[in-house]
Amino acid sequence: MAVAKAKKKVGAQAKTNGKAKIAKKSSLKKAGAARNGRAQAKYVYVFGGGKGEGEAGMKNLLGGKGANLAEMASLGLPVPAGFTVTTEVCTEFYENKRKYPKGLTPQIENALRHIEKIMGAQFGSPKNPLLVSVRSGARVSMPGMMDTVLNLGLNEETVQGLIAKTGNERFAYDCYRRFVQMYGDVVLGLKPEHKDEIDPFEEILENKKHHAGVQLDNELSAGQLQELVAEFKAAIKQRTGHDFPEDPMEQLWGAVGAVFGSWMNERAIAYRKLYHIPEDWGTAVNVQAMVFGNMGNDCGTGVAFTRDPAIGANVFYGEYLINAQGEDVVAGTRTPEPISRLEQDMPSVYKQLLAIRQKLERHYKEMQDVEFTVQNGKLWMLQTRNGKRTGFAAFKIAHDMVKEKLIKKEEALRRLDPKALNQLLRPVFDAQEKEEAVKHGRVLAKGLNAGPGAASGRIVFNAPDAVEGKKRGERVILVRSETSPEDIKGMDASEGILTKLGGMTSHAALVARQMGKVCVAGCGTLEIDYKARTMTAKGQTLREGDWLSLDGSSGEVINGQLNTKPSEILQVLIDKTMQPQESEIFQIYDTIMQWADSLRRLNVRTNADQPDQAANAIAFGAEGIGLCRTEHMFFGGDRIDAVREMILADDEAGRRAALGKLLPMQRQDFIGIFEAMNGFPVTIRTLDPPLHEFLPHTAHEQADLAGKIGVPAEKIKAKVEALHEFNPMLGHRGCRLGVVYPEITEMQARAIFEAACEVAKAGKKVIPEVMIPLVAHVNELKQQAQVVRATADKVFAEKGVKVDYLVGTMIELPRAAVVADQIAQEAEFFSFGTNDLTQTAFGLSRDDAGRFLPYYVEHEILDNDPFDTIDQEGVGRLMQWGVERGRSTRPKLKVGICGEHGGDPATVKFCHRIGQDYVSCSPFRVPIARLAAAQAVLEEADKD
Ligand code: PEP
Ligand code: MG
Repeated sequence: MAVAKAKKKVGAQAKTNGKAKIAKKSSLKKAGAARNGRAQAKYVYVFGGGKGEGEAGMKNLLGGKGANLAEMASLGLPVPAGFTVTTEVCTEFYENKRKYPKGLTPQIENALRHIEKIMGAQFGSPKNPLLVSVRSGARVSMPGMMDTVLNLGLNEETVQGLIAKTGNERFAYDCYRRFVQMYGDVVLGLKPEHKDEIDPFEEILENKKHHAGVQLDNELSAGQLQELVAEFKAAIKQRTGHDFPEDPMEQLWGAVGAVFGSWMNERAIAYRKLYHIPEDWGTAVNVQAMVFGNMGNDCGTGVAFTRDPAIGANVFYGEYLINAQGEDVVAGTRTPEPISRLEQDMPSVYKQLLAIRQKLERHYKEMQDVEFTVQNGKLWMLQTRNGKRTGFAAFKIAHDMVKEKLIKKEEALRRLDPKALNQLLRPVFDAQEKEEAVKHGRVLAKGLNAGPGAASGRIVFNAPDAVEGKKRGERVILVRSETSPEDIKGMDASEGILTKLGGMTSHAALVARQMGKVCVAGCGTLEIDYKARTMTAKGQTLREGDWLSLDGSSGEVINGQLNTKPSEILQVLIDKTMQPQESEIFQIYDTIMQWADSLRRLNVRTNADQPDQAANAIAFGAEGIGLCRTEHMFFGGDRIDAVREMILADDEAGRRAALGKLLPMQRQDFIGIFEAMNGFPVTIRTLDPPLHEFLPHTAHEQADLAGKIGVPAEKIKAKVEALHEFNPMLGHRGCRLGVVYPEITEMQARAIFEAACEVAKAGKKVIPEVMIPLVAHVNELKQQAQVVRATADKVFAEKGVKVDYLVGTMIELPRAAVVADQIAQEAEFFSFGTNDLTQTAFGLSRDDAGRFLPYYVEHEILDNDPFDTIDQEGVGRLMQWGVERGRSTRPKLKVGICGEHGGDPATVKFCHRIGQDYVSCSPFRVPIARLAAAQAVLEEADKD
C-alpha cells in the first residue's frame, strides 16, 4: 500500500459521535444518511448557546474548525452561534458539476434561524441585523490557503441597522466597505491573480486617502467610507457587468460557493501536494455570527497558544491587538502586543482566558492554538485547534504532559513525528564566531525568535527566486515584509525566513515552524526595497545574493555568513563537550528514546564503514552494524593502488599478490569496527561495485598510475576499455565478482576472521556476519558461502580461536525474493537491499531516475519517490514474500533491511508489520528509526 493511501486511512479514523469509525468517503455518506433516516442526509450542524450538534471527533465531516467550535460550545465556552456545512457537501458539489445536494437549502435556512435566536438579531433585518462570517475548514488546517468572507449580510438597509445598534457610523461603514471589498475579491473574482496586477479596490482606497490627505485607512471619515462603498460597487458593476448583490441570502450562497470553490484554487492545490492531503477530503464551510474586535478600545482580538509553540515551555503564549479585527493579527500588518500585557489592558478578560487555557488543555490533553475576540469587554472564543509547533516544542510538550500526568507515555510517542528529530539534531551557530560577529556590530536587527535553529544563506527577496536559488544548489534566506500563502514553495526552498512585519503567529512564523525552518519574524527596524532588491538595517544595506545569517532561537539577524555547530544533543552524545545534566533538550530526547526503546520490537542498526561512524551510531542508540560496505575501505590512502594492481593483474597469482597487500589494511579496518561495536553484531558485505569503478579514466590519471605501480599506461587504458560495461549497475558486480574471482572473497573473509580472532583474544565479544551481495540464484550463494566457511575454518585453526559467525545474503533482486525459500537453505540471514531491489523491481536506474521521477511524483503518477520511502504495494510485496518464503525454509531466519529506506519512518513501520527483526540506517537516522519502531508497535495495538 502506498504511503499517501496509508495516510488517507489514518486521517479517516476520526470517530463519529464518539462511536462509529468513518473509513472512507462513501461510508461517510452512508453514515450521514443513516443518522437522519434514509431519505435525508444531514448536511448542516449547528452550535452555540452552550450546545453543539457535532463534536471534536467529527473532523472528517465538519472539518477541524467546525468540529472544535461544536466541542467548545458544548464545553460551555463563549462561542458565537453558527453552523457548519459538511465536507460531504463539498465532495458532492464537485461530483455533481458544482451543484449542491437537494435538501441543503432548508437546512441552511433553519440553521440561520438558530443563530438568530441565540444572538438575538435577524439576518437581513434593517433594524437589528445579524452579520455572519463565512470560512473554510478542512480536516487539517491549511493556514490562509482558502477563502473567507466577513461582515456578510450588510447592504444599504442593514448598514443603517448596524449604525443604530452600535451608535457608530464610522465603524458601520468601515465594516461595509471591508465586506464589499472582500466579497468582490473572493466571490466575484476581482482579486488580482498576479503580483503586478492592480487590485481595483486598493487603487480606489489609495485615491481616496490621497484626496482626503490622510495616510492610514482608519483616518478616513464615515462619509468617505460611505463613498468608498459606492465606488467599490461601481467598480464591481464595471468589471463584472452585474450589480453587487443586496440580498443577504444571495450573498450567503455566493460566499458558500466561493469557499467550496477555493478548495480547488492553485494555492490550496499546492499546499495539499506539499502535505499529502487528499483532494477528496473536501472542506467544510463555517457560517458564524460576527463579533467585532474593532468597535473601540474596549474591543480587541488575539491568538494564543496554551504553551510556547517555539520552545514548548508551559506558559500562556500569544498576542493581541486592541481595536482590531482577527485578520489584522494573522496578516502581520500590525505588530501585536504580547498576551501578558492583556492583564493590564483587560484584567477580567485575561483571567477568563487563563481559565479557558486550562480547561482546554485538560479537555483536549493537547496544546491548543486559540483565536479570540473581545467585543465591548465581552470575550468570545472563535477557534481552537491543536497548535502547530517546532520539533523542539513537540518533544518538550509531549514529555512534559507525561510528567504532568495529562497523557501516558504511549500517547506522547504516538504524537511525535519521527522526522522532527532532525530539528533537535540541527546545528546552532558556533558560539565563539557569533560572539565575534556581535562584537563587530554585525547584528543588524532583532526580531521574534519564531523558528529555532541557525541558518546562513544568500538573500533573495521573493519566493520564485528562492526556488531558483535552491535549484542551483545555493542556500538562500527569504527576506519579505510579510509572507502569504503564495510564498509557500519559496519558503520550502529556503534555509531560513526573515520578515519585517507580523508576530509569532503570523503566516511566516506558523508555516516556518511547521516546515521546521529557521524563522525570524516581525523585525520592524528592517527596510526592504523590493524594486532595488535591497534590505537596510542599522545603516547597512545588503543586496540580493549577499550572505545573511539568522538565529531563529534568539531572533538575531546577522550580516554575513556564520559557521554552525552541532546541536546540544550532539554535543552531549558525540562531541562530549556538554554534560547530559547541562542540556534540558538532551534529557527530554533521552527520556523519550528510552520510552521508545521499552516498546519497540525491531532492532535498530546502522550503516557504517568507519569506526568513528560506528561509534556515533552507538551514541545514537544503534544496536549493531547492518551494512559495512567494504569497498568504501578500498579508497582510503594509497590502498587504492593495491586495489588497482589487483584489477590489472594478469592471473590469479598476480591478483593474490596484490590482495596480500590489501589484507593487513582490511584486517585493521575490521579490528577498529569490531572494537567500536563492542559486542554488537557487525554485518560486513563482500565487494559489490564493478571493478572499473576503481580504475582511473583520464589519460593523465592513467599515466600517473602507470608511474606509480610500474605498469604501462597502454595496459591500463586497455583494461579500462575491457572492463567497460553498457550498464554497470546490472553488470559484473555484487557476488558476480566473487564468483569469478573467489580469491577476492577469500581475502576479505580472511581479513574479517583474523580481525575477529584478534579482538576475541583481547577479551571482547565479536559477532561477525558475512553478507554476500546481489545474489539472484542459490548457487551463487552456495559457492561464496563455501569460500567464506573454508576460510573461517583455516583462520580458526591457525589462530587457535573460534568465533561464532553467520553467512547470509542481501535480497536485492526480484528473483532472490521469489526464490527466497531456496536461498534460505544457504543463508543464515537476509538483509533487504532496497536500493537495488527498488531499481530492479521498477526497472529503472537509481542514477538516472532523477530525470523523470520528480515529474512522476509531481504529477501523482507515483505517490512518493520509491527511493525515499518503500513502494509498499510492489517492492514491499517482494519483501513480504522474501520474509515468508525464507522463513518457510528456516523458521528462525534473521531478517533486516539496509537500503536507504531503513531510516524512513513509513518504511520502518512496514518492516515491523512484515515481521523483520531489524532495520539499518545511517547513524543520524538511528533515533528516527527507534521512534518509528515504537510507533509501529502502538499502531499495531491500536488496530486490534
Ligand atoms: C541496496 O542496494 O539497498 C544496498 C544497501 O546496497 P548498495 O546501495 O550499496 O547497492
Ligand atoms: Mg545494493
